[in-house]
Amino acid sequence: MKAKGLIRQRISVKGIVQGVGFRPFVYRIAVGNGLSGSVKNLGDAGVEIIVQGSPDQIRRFLQDLEERKPPLAEIEELRIEELPLDGHELGPFRIERSGAGEGSSGTIPPDTAICAECLEDIEGEGRYRGYWATSCTNCGPRFTTIRALPYDRERTSFAEFPMCPACMREYTDPLDRRYHAQTIACPACGPRLYFNGSPEGDPILKAALALKAGRIVAIKGLGGTHLACDATSEEVVSRLRQRLGRPAQPFALMATEVQIPQLAEVSPQEWEMLRSPRRPIVVLNKRPGAEAQGALAPSVAPGLHNVGIMLPYTGLHYLLFNHLDFPLVMTSANMPGRPMLIENREIQGRLEGIADDFLLHDREIVARCDDSVLRHSLGWRFIRRSRGWVPTPLELDLGEEPLLALGAELNNAFTLYLDGRCYLSQHIGHVDDLETFQFLREAIAHLLSITGARLPRVLACDLHPRFLTSQLAGELGEKVIRVQHHHAHIAAVLGEHGLERAVGIAADGVGYGTDGRIWGGEVLLADRADFKRLGGLKSVPMAGGDLATRFPARMAAGFLFAAGLRGPKLKQALESHLHFRSPRELDLVMRQLERRLNLFWTSSSGRFLDAVSALLGICSERTYEGEPAMKLEAAARGGQALELELPFTMEGDRPVLDTPRLFLRLLELKEGHSAADLAATAQWALAAGLARLAIAAARENGLKEVALAGGVAYNEAIVSTIKAEVEQAGLRLYVGEKVPCGDGGVSFGQAVVAGTRLRLGRA
Ligand code: ZN
Ligand code: ZN
Ligand code: FE
Repeated sequence: MKAKGLIRQRISVKGIVQGVGFRPFVYRIAVGNGLSGSVKNLGDAGVEIIVQGSPDQIRRFLQDLEERKPPLAEIEELRIEELPLDGHELGPFRIERSGAGEGSSGTIPPDTAICAECLEDIEGEGRYRGYWATSCTNCGPRFTTIRALPYDRERTSFAEFPMCPACMREYTDPLDRRYHAQTIACPACGPRLYFNGSPEGDPILKAALALKAGRIVAIKGLGGTHLACDATSEEVVSRLRQRLGRPAQPFALMATEVQIPQLAEVSPQEWEMLRSPRRPIVVLNKRPGAEAQGALAPSVAPGLHNVGIMLPYTGLHYLLFNHLDFPLVMTSANMPGRPMLIENREIQGRLEGIADDFLLHDREIVARCDDSVLRHSLGWRFIRRSRGWVPTPLELDLGEEPLLALGAELNNAFTLYLDGRCYLSQHIGHVDDLETFQFLREAIAHLLSITGARLPRVLACDLHPRFLTSQLAGELGEKVIRVQHHHAHIAAVLGEHGLERAVGIAADGVGYGTDGRIWGGEVLLADRADFKRLGGLKSVPMAGGDLATRFPARMAAGFLFAAGLRGPKLKQALESHLHFRSPRELDLVMRQLERRLNLFWTSSSGRFLDAVSALLGICSERTYEGEPAMKLEAAARGGQALELELPFTMEGDRPVLDTPRLFLRLLELKEGHSAADLAATAQWALAAGLARLAIAAARENGLKEVALAGGVAYNEAIVSTIKAEVEQAGLRLYVGEKVPCGDGGVSFGQAVVAGTRLRLGRA
């Protein structure tokens, strides 16, 4: 019997539609609109929906599909086909068992912030009231709890918590938001919280009282452990600094939507990013007066004009803030560059004498994942791409051969390439010690496990022969492709923006060059397979090698030496303009320079900015990565740049920017100009000089594209100068927006180069 006015359609949906509660959602809106039919997961091919009903019902269904879809779902492609009514009734709408494709690559979502409905649940009167680990198909941990594919409860760290009957009912009810929510848990059956080892009473309230009393509390979260304390109390924050031995490294904050405007200036884009389900740390400009008025302890981010802030992102955070009326310092409890602490016994052991109290839970963290950090300056820049993004891949076709690119040595992240997708790993840290190296190995194994992939035959790594990552590549790979650090930086921009070649400006701290020297201020002619070093900054000596990085006065001495100062003249300049730890150090540095002892050579942009920072009395000791240059940027904000041109000179057959001459000029200008003006001048001259080299190179090579990468691409003043110059010359500037500009993006660039070389048969 043919029902009158009915039609049948097949709707094929592609996009992020797996592991995000999409099928139950389709079920609910189909039932809600009185349709019969089915929904089915096709794995990589997306989701297939068959519906039958009146044209009106189907129209409303499609409208709901677009407008009410789950927060994590994204529809990239929607195809509708008319099907014949074959006389068979389809019966009540149902979710069909998955095809074999389910759980194939690309289906694991990142960890996301607690959703609005779960938040209502924990604030409401139902069975989730006050439960810190409440989640549903739309929210909660994923990457940090899933051990292997396919994604179901047995293969997560929730497996140890068998569902109670009430949870089981919701889990098996297609009309429930927690239908097949693998992380479903409640006070009766789920993970528990412990305050100083005890689950009794209300551990969150106890932690809040401790924080109010000015104590430092270790809090275990989704992917690691934070140290928390009252961010408005100078006394408490400096105590935390002292205990950690971190005199100045900026601490990130967690604050509510009400508190944030008292701390920082927030643009509409920044609000949107702060509130997104990914909930990253966003580096915001401090609100003028925030420190003076006691809203923010000066020790939170000393000497900087900005501060990293995030909103609460788990039930635990929200419940904690219910008891607090001040923002919290929320800093990773590990040493900088080292892995997050995730095991309860280790957390307690390592934080003895640092944390006063411990708010821990008994859910195992399967994979560490740090908070992501972004900054908006002429577009979004990832300082760290981790929680909330990982393991979502970037789509880029690099050929058929799977690849594993091991990345840079510092701020490491690696990239796994499989079949048109680049999986950038979470932040790993500084792979110059065995503990971090071990974490790298574990993270590789975990990513292979949740993508269902085998270890690729081809590995990419840095050019440096002695990096642990280079050794690992040799150990794991049948074939190893070595990629120069700055080439990788530029190739990452090429890959992200779909460019084949460009003139690259790679400006950062350090990278091992093809000549064995330390590079870091390079203008390259780069394609996806190869590069030519066209020019850059002049090489200058670093007296005492790494010590010149830690004590930038040494670096300043190198610039003055390279500018031709010798003997008493050099000594007098050093004595009157720079701060050394002792007269003996000054003499030693002089001797190292003049007798060329223990000298390394670098063309690093970061070291130039460091040296200027020391010269202007802004920062004479680096206590954390990037400190002198970050403080220089802060100091330059009120300043007016003098348009001093950075002159060329030749180094071999390459034109290089004569930074030593500019440096000497800045020294002479100290009399009569403020530190702010000279800081702005140094940044402007460096940016304009690099832009000038790049523009000349682009014209010579008939290119319109300039790619900028490296840590210097986080400096707003420098990027805007380069952008203005490049655009004025009729060219276009490209900077990483989805891939970190700094060393966290190097592995992606290595993968781009390795894939291209393989395809061209040049590996
Ligand atoms: Zn939820
Ligand atoms: Zn339960
Ligand atoms: Fe770099």
